[in-house]
Amino acid sequence: MTALSANLQAVRERIDQACRQAGRNPASVSLLAVSKTFPAESVAALAAAGQHAFGENYVQEGCGKVEALAALKLDWHFIGPLQSNKSRLVAQHFQWVHSVDRLKIAQRLSEQRAAHHAPLNVCIQVNVSGEASKSGAAPESVESLALEVAALPRLRLRGLMAIPEPSDDVAVLRGRFAQLRELRDTLNERYGLALDTLSMGMSSDLDLAIAEGASIVRVGTAIFGTRTAGTP
Ligand SMILES: *Cc1c(COP(=O)(O)O)cnc(C)c1O
Repeated sequence: MTALSANLQAVRERIDQACRQAGRNPASVSLLAVSKTFPAESVAALAAAGQHAFGENYVQEGCGKVEALAALKLDWHFIGPLQSNKSRLVAQHFQWVHSVDRLKIAQRLSEQRAAHHAPLNVCIQVNVSGEASKSGAAPESVESLALEVAALPRLRLRGLMAIPEPSDDVAVLRGRFAQLRELRDTLNERYGLALDTLSMGMSSDLDLAIAEGASIVRVGTAIFGTRTAGTP
């Protein structure tokens, strides 16, 4: 077994373990392998080991891998900050965008999503830690944004995503994840939406996120190893 597939196996076991502890079905949590800064060859090796969904943060780099590996029919998720002038490339190359944080980006993605593709799956990124510097919609603006995004024709609003501020305090982190879940539940109950996705949890905290209801965990370092600072 290669190092990559051994890491993948270990992460899958961690997910199963967290599901058992939370009394959840492991099939209710999917693993998004975050391949940013790592080459297409590494993605191909993981695909051969059975991993199907990959996450990218940078538009140019991500589109390059999507094109290079088109024959493998993988699922590609865009998870990074998205500028308006790059939205078309994302709408053309990816099946999912986790980082919608304002209406303008959602409108552009909807307009730019080609009719021959399935609607683009999107999550609204929520700034659960309330830091001015971090991206994500403010929690109090999420209800109105979600209703507007849900009405766009070429998008399918699937749920919410968050990247809580790192904390050594497990209770604080759990509280952030719980906040995202409660927000999602409110949207479903109050407005009749059918949001099935909570994209939360990374290498260091996926277990806590699963305990609070994560349906997609986004894992980079624990699969690919440490990223070199500043790349690409
Ligand atoms: C890089 C990244 C991840 C993966 O983080 P790791 O700590 O390496 O697992 C997950 N989500 C987003 C949005 C990221 O940018």
